Amino acid sequence: MKGKLFVVSGPSGVGKNTLLNTIIDRCKTVQYSVSATSRPIRPGEVDGKSYYFVSRARFEELIASDALLEYAEYVGNYYGTPLQPIREAIENGVDVVMDVEVVGALKIKKRLPDDAVLVFVTAPSFDVIRKRLIHRGDVAPGLMEERLERARWECSQAVNYDYIVVNDDITRASEELRAIMLAEKCKTMERIHLIKEELSCSTPQ
Ligand code: 5GP
Repeated sequence: MKGKLFVVSGPSGVGKNTLLNTIIDRCKTVQYSVSATSRPIRPGEVDGKSYYFVSRARFEELIASDALLEYAEYVGNYYGTPLQPIREAIENGVDVVMDVEVVGALKIKKRLPDDAVLVFVTAPSFDVIRKRLIHRGDVAPGLMEERLERARWECSQAVNYDYIVVNDDITRASEELRAIMLAEKCKTMERIHLIKEELSCSTPQ
């Protein structure tokens, strides 16, 4: 059985990172896709674990050599998914969780429609997202309108996703994400090979 790619997106302020950390802690067999980025490292981040931190020039080499499954520019920095670990995971039956913004997520779905499952994480309302962004205090006041506009646009793209997880309560949201992952693994197309010999039998009288 091939591995699945669970591509998770959502605007800043919905608690996506906490949700992903909870799932990664809980599902030991799931692999986290470490992205490459040209943005500077933040305190507490670890190169090779949080991201592969590279220069813009190195990132452009990765693009030119087709080493990325997808990439996008987000608030002035490049972000992209290294292709080789994803290929290996799919072939080896390992499920992968990926944190990818909307543009990149839609590229993945287009490139690997049978392997990718798109999950959009949001809050109970846009007002909650607005309040969380303002209270986080890590957005410069002059940039707040731009960030809110981006978040609003990201929410408008949720119609293109396979699932929406509402993060009102982290325990409930991680149950929802876990349920999606389990259900995807139980889909008929994933399991029909188990009963392939019986498929050709005739209907009993
Ligand atoms: P941050 O700089 O806060 O870690 O991430 C900013 C945005 O980049 C987030 O929305 C995150 O989902 C997105 N992101 C992280 N890795 C990737 C990636 O490999 N590809 C794309 N397209 N977006 C990514």
